[in-house]
Amino acid sequence: MNVYDSARMADVLAPLGYAQADGPEDADMVILNTCHIREKAAEKVYSELGRLRQIKEQRTEDNPEDSGPLLAVAGCVAQAEAAEMLARAPFLDIVLGPQTYHRLPEMIARAERAAKKGAGTKGRKGAGVLDTEFPDEAKFDHLPRARADAAVAGCTAFLTIQEGCDKFCTFCVVPYTRGVEFSRPGQAVLEECRALVEAGVREITLLGQNVNAYHGAAPNEGATGVAGTTWDLAELIAQLAEIDGLERVRYTTSHPRDMDLGLYAAHGNCEKLMPYLHLPAQSGSDRILAAMNRGYTAAEYQASVAQLRQVRPDIALSGDFIVGFPGESEADFEATMELVASVNYAQAYSFKYSPRPGTPAAMLEDQVPDDVRGERLQRLQALLDSQQQAFNQQMLGRRLRLLLDQPGRRPGQLVGRSPYMQAVHLDGPASMLGQMVEVEITDAHANSLAGQLIFGAQGPDLQPTAAMAPPENTIGMERII
Ligand code: SAH
Ligand code: SF4
Repeated sequence: MNVYDSARMADVLAPLGYAQADGPEDADMVILNTCHIREKAAEKVYSELGRLRQIKEQRTEDNPEDSGPLLAVAGCVAQAEAAEMLARAPFLDIVLGPQTYHRLPEMIARAERAAKKGAGTKGRKGAGVLDTEFPDEAKFDHLPRARADAAVAGCTAFLTIQEGCDKFCTFCVVPYTRGVEFSRPGQAVLEECRALVEAGVREITLLGQNVNAYHGAAPNEGATGVAGTTWDLAELIAQLAEIDGLERVRYTTSHPRDMDLGLYAAHGNCEKLMPYLHLPAQSGSDRILAAMNRGYTAAEYQASVAQLRQVRPDIALSGDFIVGFPGESEADFEATMELVASVNYAQAYSFKYSPRPGTPAAMLEDQVPDDVRGERLQRLQALLDSQQQAFNQQMLGRRLRLLLDQPGRRPGQLVGRSPYMQAVHLDGPASMLGQMVEVEITDAHANSLAGQLIFGAQGPDLQPTAAMAPPENTIGMERII
């Protein structure tokens, strides 16, 4: 979601004359878009700020006229720690939360005025413009249309349809930093998707903290529109699948409690919906799931998986797990290992429990020692890795359709995604970027596959599209300059 938000901030800034710079050294502004979900992610912000401060000071030293780049921190760390952040980094110009980035132009105008006054002062104090409100106006209504530009969009794009969360899992900061659950109206989503497809996008990933809780206002007109009704995620996917030129639809992240019959059915009957689902379980112990306030048991999670596999037997499953939640015993952890063994994941993410300030679980007394958390994480990851390896191995010799979405590391190499979300490397000309192709899988590795193009298999949908640029800045913290 931060990748999507960063792109939308760039959309807001474009009319002011800002464009992406190569690096912070000669940029007019640097925005760190931050994540607060675990302590490690939040800490990165402060180390990065130290580096940016040096750049800012160096610029003034080299040229007394230069007040250095405006420095801004956006996102959930800013939302959660604004006051502390301004105290720790008084050289900051702007601190803004995830719900106010449509107001960036006003904030920049104020920060620029202050920066002009401080020009020539080495280590000038930042303007300290702060906006971490949850405004009444909906951010999405005040954003410019997503830029319909293939060079920006590439052939695969994110599209936020839902934000925020009302579920209050006891370990999680999201309800406090992103705010209450909100779904964008169906019409706005359709329009944004159509614009992206016109720009050359072939695959869309619908985003939300709880994307399958989506219930956006249905358009009032047309065959499907009845005033006052809403679309759920299955209905939205069915509508998006009608868009010519859109080849693939994915969605993330789903909550097991919000899987419903319509969505299971969509996995069986919507060809454009890819056979891959990220469905975080968090734990396999009912006791811990209750303490986490997840609202399902391990057996209910397994029943969801069974229903998905009934309609789509080849579906690749992914998940999130937290080990060492307060009070987790060896037996609780074993229950997680059993759940993983029974589900058999194609890939999954697992984390050591990280106490987050202000969340109920952080206040619990029976915190699990770090060495125990670390040891459990290793055991879980070994099991998940072996499942991923086995999943990849069974692709050997199979033919898969790929969307070629990135150049590879070496010249002449391309990378595409399989329907199951695996990265597949192959040799091919850069002019094929953005195309759907068919490959035969020749090698399977722990985290990726290698394949060979099958020539002559091009169907009517394998026409070249405009040259696609790879998505930029996709590592960790986003830096839009
Ligand atoms: N809404 C999604 C998850 C969003 S947060 C869901 O409910 O499943 C992404 C992932 O970060 C979570 O699934 C969880 O595994 C992890 N996570 C969140 N808070 C955490 C914490 N305090 N410590 C460790 N991992 C955490
Ligand atoms: Fe956090 Fe997901 Fe739970 Fe919401 S449902 S509180 S986003 S873990």
